[in-house]
Amino acid sequence: MNKGSVIRYIDDISYDITGICLEIWNNPEVSGMEKASANRYKKILKSNGFEIKEIPDMEHAFIGEFGKGPPVIAVLAEYDALPGLSQKLDTKYNPVEEKGPGHGCGHNLLGAAALGAALAVKRYLEESKKEGTIRFYGCPEEETLVGKVKMIKKGAFDGCDIALSWHPMNINTAMREAFLANNSIKFRFHGISAHAAQSPESGRSALDAVELMNVGANYLREHVIQEARIHYTITNAGGAPNIVPKEAESWYYVRAPYRKDVEEITERLIKVAKGAAMMTETEVEYEILGGTYEILPNDVLFELTYRNMLEVDLPAYTDEELKFAKDIQGTLNPKLVEGEIKKFISIEDDEKLFIHREVLEKEKVEKVVMLGSSDSGDVSWIMPMNFFLTATWPLGVPAHSWQATSASGSSLGVKGMLYAAKIFTAVAYDLLNDSSLVEKAKNEFNRRTKNRKYVSPLR
Ligand SMILES: [Zn+2]
Repeated sequence: MNKGSVIRYIDDISYDITGICLEIWNNPEVSGMEKASANRYKKILKSNGFEIKEIPDMEHAFIGEFGKGPPVIAVLAEYDALPGLSQKLDTKYNPVEEKGPGHGCGHNLLGAAALGAALAVKRYLEESKKEGTIRFYGCPEEETLVGKVKMIKKGAFDGCDIALSWHPMNINTAMREAFLANNSIKFRFHGISAHAAQSPESGRSALDAVELMNVGANYLREHVIQEARIHYTITNAGGAPNIVPKEAESWYYVRAPYRKDVEEITERLIKVAKGAAMMTETEVEYEILGGTYEILPNDVLFELTYRNMLEVDLPAYTDEELKFAKDIQGTLNPKLVEGEIKKFISIEDDEKLFIHREVLEKEKVEKVVMLGSSDSGDVSWIMPMNFFLTATWPLGVPAHSWQATSASGSSLGVKGMLYAAKIFTAVAYDLLNDSSLVEKAKNEFNRRTKNRKYVSPLR
C-alpha cells in the first residue's frame, strides 16, 4: 500500500465511521456519562483486531491497541456532549429535547476521525508488515477538563512516542499553539449562624466572606497580565435572609495563555480568599477541581501536519450543503461573520464564503485564537503532539452553540471529519516511514521541556 492508497482507505470505510459518528450525535452523553459512546468504539475496535485495555477507576476511558514495537502513535478521541445544547439537524434553533444535551463541540466527529485513522493505520501495518503500534485513546470527560489529566496521572500514556490530535471547527488549519491553561477551584467558607435580626452580633457570615473575596478578586484583575481571565459563580449563598449564612461557596476559573501564569494567579487568589476569611472571622478551605495546560508547540509536527493538510484533497460540497451552511451562517451576528471572513479568507468567490474551502496560509495561523481550554494541552507536555482543525461548521459558527450541534450532525460535519481522518492517516504514514521525523519531534520536545517538567494540576 502506498501513501495514496492508505489515505483512500478512509473512503472505503467511510460508511462505518460515519455510522458511529451519527449514532453518537443522535445519543449525546455528557461528561462522565459516556458509557454507550465508549462502548460503541470498544466494540468496533475489538472486532477489527485491536486489543482493548481498560483504565483503572475510569469507566469510560480505554485504549485500543494494534501492532508491535516503535514508534507507538497515539490518536486522541473524545466523545462527550454538552448540557443544554440539544438541537435537531435544522438551520434554525430547534432542540430535540428542551435543555437536553447535544454535540455542540463536535466530539462525535472528533472521535470518529480518530477511529478512521486507527483503522487505516492498522490496515497499513498489517499489509506492509512494518514495525509500529497504533493506539486509539478513548478519552472521556473533556468538557469538564479532567479526563486526560486523570489518564496521565494513571500512566495511561506511558510508552507512547507521539500523540496526534485535532478539533472540529469552522476553518482548516494546522495549529502551533492553542488553548488557555486553566484552574477550576471551589472556595468554601465556614461561619457561625445566628438570627439575622435578633442576634446578628453573634453570627459570622460565610456569604460576607464570599462577597468580599469577589470584591478582592475584581481588584486583583487590574494587576494580572492582560490575557488572564478570572470568572466565578456563587454555588452556595446560604439559605434564607433571616439566618446569617453558616456555609457559602464560590467556584472560580483562572485562565491564562501559559500554565505558569495560571499557577501564580491562583496563589494570589488563594491569598484573597484567606483575606476575606480573616476580615469576616470565618474559615476557608479550597479544592482544586481540575486544571489544564496550554498546548506546547512542536514545530516538527506542525510542519508535517501542515504539509499533509495540503497534500490530502479538501472536501467538495453540493449546492444543498452550501445552502445549509449559508442558512446556518445567516442566524449569526453578521459583523462577527464578516470579521472571520476578512481574517481568514483569501478567495473572492461569494459562494465559498459559507464554509472554509482552503487550508489557512501559515502566516495567518497565529490569527486563530482559541481562548477555551482543553485537557489535550496536558498530553502535549508529556510527549510531542500535533494539533489541527478542520472546517466541520460554517464560517463564523462558534463552538458550544446550537449551530455547532446542528452542523456536527450534518454531511458538512461528516465531510470535515473524513478530511481530518485522512490528515491523521497521512501524518501517521510519514511517521512510520521516516523514523528521523519521530526523533526530531522528540528532540524538540526534550529541548522545550528541559527546564519545565509536567506537574499534574490535580493535587
Ligand atoms: Zn471540544
